[in-house]
Amino acid sequence: MVSSCHQLHIFFFPYMAHGHMIPIVDLAKLFALRGLKTTIITTCLNAPLISKTIQRTKDLGIDIDIQILKFPSVEAGLPEGCENLDSITSYDDGSLELIFKFLKATTLLQEPLEKLLQDCQPDCLVADLQFPWATDAADKFGIPRLVFKGTCFFSLCTLECIRLYEPHKKVTSDSEPFVLTNLPGDIKMTRKQLPDDLIQDFETDYSKLMKEIAESELRSFGIIVNSFYEVEPAYVDYYKKALGKRAWPIGPVSLCNGGIDDKAQRGKEASISENECLKWLDSKKRNSVIYICFGSMVNFSASQLMEIAKALEASGQEFIWVVRREKKNKKDEEDWLPKGFEERIERKGLIIRGWAPQVLILNHEAIGGFLTHCGWNSVLEAITAGKPMVTWPVFADHFYNEKLVSEVLQIGVSVGVKEWVAVHGDYVTTEAIEKAITELMVGKEAKEMRSRAKKLGEMATQAVEEGGSSYSNLSALVEEVRSHRHRP
Ligand code: UDP
Repeated sequence: MVSSCHQLHIFFFPYMAHGHMIPIVDLAKLFALRGLKTTIITTCLNAPLISKTIQRTKDLGIDIDIQILKFPSVEAGLPEGCENLDSITSYDDGSLELIFKFLKATTLLQEPLEKLLQDCQPDCLVADLQFPWATDAADKFGIPRLVFKGTCFFSLCTLECIRLYEPHKKVTSDSEPFVLTNLPGDIKMTRKQLPDDLIQDFETDYSKLMKEIAESELRSFGIIVNSFYEVEPAYVDYYKKALGKRAWPIGPVSLCNGGIDDKAQRGKEASISENECLKWLDSKKRNSVIYICFGSMVNFSASQLMEIAKALEASGQEFIWVVRREKKNKKDEEDWLPKGFEERIERKGLIIRGWAPQVLILNHEAIGGFLTHCGWNSVLEAITAGKPMVTWPVFADHFYNEKLVSEVLQIGVSVGVKEWVAVHGDYVTTEAIEKAITELMVGKEAKEMRSRAKKLGEMATQAVEEGGSSYSNLSALVEEVRSHRHRP
């Protein structure tokens, strides 16, 4: 007989990339706030990235444990110390090939994970979608495995429709638009906006992984999605009802960060202090600043960065621009900035080299828009803050997210990227960037987009409040895990 006051113990196992670790740590916090025992599994060099968050939750009287696994970098042929995708995508040749090597390395974690599950016997394992083998690992010990998906329902539905109905095979060229068969809305895409491996008929490493992910999902307890019902009701319903998936929208998870420190200290250590950042923003007018950031993996060439710099200057807008490049020496000439750029934009712009406190920035009233690569966390954080976007998709699920933002929600201006290019992106000209920035920041359309975005932001907040849709979904999920435990 199992006691009904047993405290459920949930394991969280994020993929080692900021876009995956950040929301899963927030998710662990959400479960812990509901009184559940939570443990995050990670590796030695990734642990410091979450230690501050864990310390802050401890100060609130909430304990999140951490368990460390040894990452097999060298065994998998990766450089020693390479434990996070961040280091791979910073290389100039940081390609899909290396990302796959990294993924292969993670499969070696199955055995140590099983040992941990055997020793600790948690009640549930929430593991990243990138770990299809986690379902088998949990199965061995009769532990339900939940899949964490850091994308939106719209993108999940799109991908499934492409797989099921193969609409991309009905067109004769890569640039001819095809309609996404059966998907609500008249959504069109081109083959160029999809990765080659998805549309090729022969099996590749990528298509094999996709198949494994899909199969492991079918055998899992269900899917947790960092989204909320009201932002994409047609697609949540389609995913659950038409496609028959067991899924819980429980986001936006970033809203569990109430204080300034919580908002500012997510992921890596920021390259600017919270005070300095807020002081700069406080000196600006409401909705006057555009924030530009391409997430934690996109790695643009110097010439692409130069186009962005020229567009910013030509647009005349005030801006905060995050660039994933460090300046080693004050006197270093930087090949990605026009001569004299920083002197000329001194009052108008702030360049953050490295890591920015993104959620803190997005929520400031001076921010009027966000130029984003459309990583789902960034998109959802912007929606939550009520900010419209310039959409600049690069790879991964970005092109689907762009469609949701610009066509379904109508809170975005597309910069016009045509092609899916891993990590380095398709080339965009100064003129196209300047035009999109101006459309986002100035004029009647801009105002309307901002007002739509603001409403969505309010809905996001309501969704996670007691009685809101995400709040209730999380309660329902916890109950399902609890009753699974009590099954005879
Ligand atoms: N992020 C941040 N500061 C940065 C860059 C990124 O805080 O300078 C955070 C951002 O808030 C988001 C995550 O890193 O939570 C990036 O996830 P996303 O899905 O947007 O993109 P990815 O990095 O996976 O491409």
